[in-house]
Amino acid sequence: MNTAKSTSSTSSTLPSVLVIAGFDPSGGAGVLADTKTIHANGGYAACVISAITVQNTQGVKTVDPIDAVTFQAQLSTLAEDMVFDAIKIGMLASLEQVQIVSEFLKTHNLKVVLDPVLISSSGQELLPANAIPAFIEQLIPKATLLTPNRPEADFLAKKINRPVTHWNQVHRAQIAATLSHLNCANLLLKGGHSETANQGVAEDWLFSWEDPNVECFRSPWLKVQHNHGTGCTLASAIATQLAFGHSVSKAVELGKRYLSQALAHADQNQPNYHPLPAGKTRHGSLHHFFN
Ligand code: PLP
Repeated sequence: MNTAKSTSSTSSTLPSVLVIAGFDPSGGAGVLADTKTIHANGGYAACVISAITVQNTQGVKTVDPIDAVTFQAQLSTLAEDMVFDAIKIGMLASLEQVQIVSEFLKTHNLKVVLDPVLISSSGQELLPANAIPAFIEQLIPKATLLTPNRPEADFLAKKINRPVTHWNQVHRAQIAATLSHLNCANLLLKGGHSETANQGVAEDWLFSWEDPNVECFRSPWLKVQHNHGTGCTLASAIATQLAFGHSVSKAVELGKRYLSQALAHADQNQPNYHPLPAGKTRHGSLHHFFN
């Protein structure tokens, strides 16, 4: 049992989270990380696969998008059978997928955590360039919470010609204007790339379009080798806490607490690996079921 498990559900059913994400066969990121996270946090995960990636702990080799018909069929078949409390959207792999999800959200009133998975940490493009305008115009306005890292936040702000000089409290008026142009209700800026990372602190900033109070979530900066799927894990943990009925702020606090533990236990809980080829590095999965 992990400490992040919530007990606030008032129903006897499991809070259910619909995941839309890619398949990472190594289990570090994508639907496998999402599923582990959601179950570890006391929820139930059902998954729509957006792409089959070929990758291992050394990087992504190829990305094969699921065709629009199969993608749509996965989504509608699940939705006609199960009632979801929240949806976590990770990697999307085509313009058609962005449009299908946008249409789906018009008719399903769900808490939406949107993780803008644009490029993998190993540099592979995950969302094609022709899908970016629809992603910004159709999906971001439907999100309860957008969870970019710093490069993703900068990328999105620049795309709408509203660059942000510093993502912090001092520049909150500028950030609020950017969020309003993005039509983004809440944005959690993940601190992995922030200036404080070098000083031993991970700072995540929660900005709301309408609420001038910027919240900062601080946790010790953990220097962890096996950190693949960190973004997926945080977004899924937050989505599960939203499914339990928590506010955005509380869900972020609980999600971050879970992520810190999953990271802290990662390096000591890895499968066996072959020795690395010369010049290669390896980033394995977090440990989602810590004690
Ligand atoms: N989803 C999939 C299927 C991926 O392959 C990746 C990166 O390789 C990601 C998401 C993003 O992973 P992270 O959470 O480490 O940013």
